[in-house]
Formats: sequence, structure tokens, C-alpha cells
Amino acid sequence: MQQLYYYNFLPKNLKTIIDYKIKRFINEKIFIGEYMQINDEIKCIIAFYACLPSIAYKNFCYPSLKYIYVYPHTIIKKHFNQNGIIKKEMLISGESIGDAVIIAWNEAKREIYHYQKRNVIIHEFAHELDFEEGIINGIPIFAFIDYKHFKEIFNESFKKAIKEKILDNYAFTNRAEFFAVTTEYFFLKPKTLQIHYSELFEEYKKIYKFNPIEIEKKYKNILDFK
Ligand SMILES: [Zn+2]
Repeated sequence: MQQLYYYNFLPKNLKTIIDYKIKRFINEKIFIGEYMQINDEIKCIIAFYACLPSIAYKNFCYPSLKYIYVYPHTIIKKHFNQNGIIKKEMLISGESIGDAVIIAWNEAKREIYHYQKRNVIIHEFAHELDFEEGIINGIPIFAFIDYKHFKEIFNESFKKAIKEKILDNYAFTNRAEFFAVTTEYFFLKPKTLQIHYSELFEEYKKIYKFNPIEIEKKYKNILDFK
């Protein structure tokens, strides 16, 4: 974990919580390597970014999730028609399918070791948080405390986002993708989210009970230093 800047930048009390969560995640979930071996580095990194969005919820460990499938490279996803003929093929770097998450390790690794605004692990686990609440609609399980208010702000931000198209295009696919992409921004590029969608940023701060601005500042310091 020492090579993970994000982990190192966390305050001591949060490090203790996430250490506990990572151990539990690795014990409870089944990691399956497809065409590759799973090692401790892979397990720890996936567990870290999977647990980061629920860092404020010590005992939350994705109750519906059982399996993590890891592929060495980007995956070709085939869509078939009723006759079993391939309708279209898509390249994906991850997928969330309820009791399982799929991660393409080459993508995940590049995003982690070269700090950027996207992170496929955070993305797919944001979908899992959305799924845990029952319906995939961009409303995560943690928003239940003030569901109506969150939904209102979230929907307004989504409408605004479609018009302005400031974030990555993928965010505008539907509400679920908007939630997953803006969650990536919240943890990795919080300033950008705060500037363009300040109300949504405040809602995320409430549901994730986390302030990512300090982490981004620390990243900026080392990146400028380099
Ligand atoms: Zn997605």
C-alpha cells in the first residue's frame, strides 16, 4: 500500500478504518483471475478503491457483491440478437453486474499509478453502491437518509450536465453513469466537480462523509514538484 499516494495522503484515523475495511473486503469477496494470476498487490489496490467511497461507513462491505473478476486487458463485450448473432462489440475496462464486478487490470493500473480524473475501480463500485439500494438510477444506498433532497439535486445536476457537457461524455449516457463518473470526479478531481456542480459536490460530501479537496491539494504539490 505504501506506493499508493491516495492511501498515504489520508489522515491517520481514516487510514485505520480503511485498513480494516480492506482486510474484510479481501476476506469476504472471491477474486477470480481470468487469463492471469491474482496477487496481493491486485487484491489490495482493488479493495482500497472499492472501499474508498464507503470510508465513512466502517461496517459497510457491499453485501450483495460476491465476485471480482480481473482480466489482464480491456475486455471485448459482445451483444447478441435473439438468433445468437453478434449485434455489436464494445471495448470495456470494467463492469458492475450486481453480485460481480469486472475490472481490466491494465486500465486500473494505468489510472492508479498515473494520477488522473478517471478510475475504473471507483467507477464500478459506485455502480455497486447504486445497485445496493435496489434500482440502478444514480441514487446510492448512502443517500437514503435524505433521499428526496439528494434526488432533487442529482436530477437538476444531470439536466444541467447534459446541456453543458463539461465532464467526460460518458457521464451523459444516463443517470447511473452520471453518478458513477461524478463519483470518480469527487474523489479524484473534486475542485472540477465543485466549480461546475457545487450543489452536487456538497451532497456527495454529505453522503460520502469525506472531504477530498485536501487530498487533491497534496497530489498537486507532488505533481508540481516533479
Ligand atoms: Zn459505468
